[in-house]
Amino acid sequence: MYDILIIGAGVVGAMISRELSKYHISICIVDKDSDVGMGATKANSGIVHAGFDARSGSLKALMNVKGSQMMKQITDELGVKYKNNGSLVIGFNKEDIEVLTELYNQGIQNGVQNLEMIDRKRLKELEPNITDNALGALYAPTGAIVCPYELTIGAIGNAMDNDAELKLKFQVDKIEPQNDGYTVFSKDGQVIQTQYIINAAGLWADDIARMVGDFSFNIHPRRGEYMLLDKACGNLVTHTIFRVPSKMGKGILVTPTVDGNLLLGPTSEDIADKENKETTPQGLEKIMNQALENVSGIPIRSVITSFCGLRSTGNTGDFIINTPRSNFINVAGIESPGLSAAPAIGKYVVDMLKEMDLQLIKKTDFNPYRPPSHAFREMSIEEKNKIIRTNSKYGKIICRCEGISEGEIIEAIHTNPKATDLDGVKRRTRSGMGRCQGGFCSPFIIEILARELNIPIEEVTKFGGKSIINIGKTK
Ligand SMILES: Cc1cc2nc3c(=O)[nH]c(=O)nc-3n(C[C@H](O)[C@H](O)[C@H](O)COP(=O)(O)OP(=O)(O)OC[C@H]3O[C@@H](n4cnc5c(N)ncnc54)[C@H](O)[C@@H]3O)c2cc1C
Repeated sequence: MYDILIIGAGVVGAMISRELSKYHISICIVDKDSDVGMGATKANSGIVHAGFDARSGSLKALMNVKGSQMMKQITDELGVKYKNNGSLVIGFNKEDIEVLTELYNQGIQNGVQNLEMIDRKRLKELEPNITDNALGALYAPTGAIVCPYELTIGAIGNAMDNDAELKLKFQVDKIEPQNDGYTVFSKDGQVIQTQYIINAAGLWADDIARMVGDFSFNIHPRRGEYMLLDKACGNLVTHTIFRVPSKMGKGILVTPTVDGNLLLGPTSEDIADKENKETTPQGLEKIMNQALENVSGIPIRSVITSFCGLRSTGNTGDFIINTPRSNFINVAGIESPGLSAAPAIGKYVVDMLKEMDLQLIKKTDFNPYRPPSHAFREMSIEEKNKIIRTNSKYGKIICRCEGISEGEIIEAIHTNPKATDLDGVKRRTRSGMGRCQGGFCSPFIIEILARELNIPIEEVTKFGGKSIINIGKTK
């Protein structure tokens, strides 16, 4: 029997598991998918919000400001890319500036540091490519960017290195309360006994809550579409550029990513189907038009891919973190700024467990660090020569667009949480994320996966399940 079962290996489950792995307890994280971070965590803006957006006094505001303050140290420990690039919310008219002043005041109340209202002249100094139509902006120097799935992989990997267990392809289907905890059944007949459950199941958190008789909230999907531009455009802006937010969200933003691309989006549209991750011509057109209103000269022809993420929008207007019955915690409705808030949510949940009388004794040997990864493209010539002398596989470049070596791909397949499919390797190494989007390197990576996992090439998948790539030999 486990002490704690976390349902959902998104960024929220990841941060909770890492925080809990600092204590002498047994932890299991389950997810229905074939890799971690495949829900909302995989497809979002990657912004560490400063914390002026959320209503003062809400859990969203509290967790956002705390989480963003914790992010630098956590990413340092996990070896995850993080950039404190600052954010600007631009206003186009007098009404916008009034809203920005309200956001400024709300931010001050929420405890956001160094917020500033700036005029057009200062805005232009900070961002020369911003539209001439902007009147002024709210400047948040504490805003930052991070790679959300890299953070999740890092946090779960670190929890696993500190003895947490991860079970993928475990779709929770039924939960039976027992005297001393719960029995949890997966759809394919696996069974887990646990004393406590943490429900961090994103879009499906309402279904999980219903399995233990909690019908108090609903989650619906709110679609957000994106366009990602080639690295050649990554320097068009240095800050994250927002527009004045509306009831549906923060509007179309223009931001550099930590990997040097330019990201435009997201749209915001309530939909019915929790599985619908399609992008739409209307959505992409809206992104193009609005992004060009914010920043001049975006070369839309440099788009290399488009994608879509689904926000887990709850019906309460705030994060839903509560205890509907003994030994069970909901961590639901974690829409934006959930990525920014996740580190603080991890700590908050541990405090809740302490209040529920779970005995939490700190480990003296908790290791906060991940084993260093070897990004060949970021090494100096001396470092490159040194690593190739130790292992010649680092000298064989597999992904030419991003400069990823065979050594890095092998590392990704053997480091917690291990990559087992093509997209898993991609998220860990960036292979296939460049201009050709994997057209050149995918066949080589499939061969490496088959060899390292000791499986036939026909069994290598793109993203688990039935997503096989090769069906047999032609000759
Ligand atoms: C378009 C968009 C833009 C966003 N931009 C930002 C941003 O810039 N900054 C920010 O701070 N936040 C942002 N967010 C919010 C952020 O992405 C989320 O708050 C965060 O990813 C939520 O993480 P999670 O772990 O709660 O959910 P998820 O990542 O969805 O994880 C839930 C997990 O539960 C698993 N699961 C579900 N049901 C079951 C089951 N029955 N059995 C087992 N496993 C199950 C799923 O497979 C999934 O992996 C954005 C979100 C979207 C969609």
